[in-house]
Amino acid sequence: MKAAVFIKANQSFVVKDYPVPEKLDDNYSLIGIESSGLCGTDVHIHEGAIGMPGDIIIGHEFLGKVLKMGEGNNLDCMGRLLNIDDRVAVNIIEPCGKCILCRTGGDASCLHLGETITYLKSANIPPHFYGGFAEVNVSPTNYLQKIPSSIPTDVVAAFLCAGPTTIRGVDYAGGIVKDETVIIQGAGAVGLFATLYAKKLGAKQVIMIGSGSNALRLDLAKELGADYVLDIRKTTVEERKEKIMELTDGIGADLIIEGTGNPEAVKEGLGLLRLRGRYIWAGQYSDRGTVDIPSHLITFNALQIFGSAQFTSNDREKYFSFLEEVPDKWSAITRVITDKYKVDDVNAAFDKAESGKSIKVVFVK
Ligand SMILES: [Zn+2]
Ligand SMILES: [Zn+2]
Repeated sequence: MKAAVFIKANQSFVVKDYPVPEKLDDNYSLIGIESSGLCGTDVHIHEGAIGMPGDIIIGHEFLGKVLKMGEGNNLDCMGRLLNIDDRVAVNIIEPCGKCILCRTGGDASCLHLGETITYLKSANIPPHFYGGFAEVNVSPTNYLQKIPSSIPTDVVAAFLCAGPTTIRGVDYAGGIVKDETVIIQGAGAVGLFATLYAKKLGAKQVIMIGSGSNALRLDLAKELGADYVLDIRKTTVEERKEKIMELTDGIGADLIIEGTGNPEAVKEGLGLLRLRGRYIWAGQYSDRGTVDIPSHLITFNALQIFGSAQFTSNDREKYFSFLEEVPDKWSAITRVITDKYKVDDVNAAFDKAESGKSIKVVFVK
């Protein structure tokens, strides 16, 4: 079966054919991958902004069917019995459950996450298929997570990583309080999911600040629940601030969810919050440089800032439950997936994702 192997930053991926293991180690399962999303993080890895070893199979947001299970554990990460043909999402990390962070609600940032990552092993070592950009995957059975059968695959796949990422950040910030004004920065996967999530959780108004580089992004933002859309290519920072103040009786937004990957967005966002406003800083997973922020702004306005990285299987479970509650939005969610590729066409897929013209690129069977 084929796998797209990451050789080195800024180099083409190499598609390799590896034998599928005949026999699995105890407590491991073989998954036939049906959908595997290309995340902003993967683009950053490819550009060298996140250091990674060579000869690995990246791809961390994928789902498929259980094809085979080794002896031993047959329970998923939530303790549910797994059967052959069950549709599962595959986690690439599992918190240790014992460290200070795991014991105090910070398990998404478990101290031992690095030791639990499955896909950093060289793809040349059997059973080869450690990551998501491949036709099959071999993972510890307790890293699998059953997906409710009622939700269509494309609907689950669209926000498989962005959804739980947003849910984790919102949780850190104390949830979304009814009647709040929520600003979403960025019309990528995180921003679009955040728009839907904020509106469904009862935000009074959701304002999307994003780029219409692909017109579909802002159209989908509206369809998913944005009451106002401010295109950063057509408005200035000052014009946007004026509009936000007008929409919030001059006090600023209650909550902002940042999902841009651009540090400049943080500077703008902090200036749009009301006193004691909450800022979820979730879109800067790789180092994109620094930005000047007037330090008194945070103190004087008593802002609350929540950094957020990764998520846990509990967050993904909440994501599945949330999707089950919004069937009216399934068709819009499906349209977030703009491009589908086979693993064979990995380099074309990355070209497309890096061009900014797609929204969500996924590899399919
Ligand atoms: Zn991701
Ligand atoms: Zn831990």
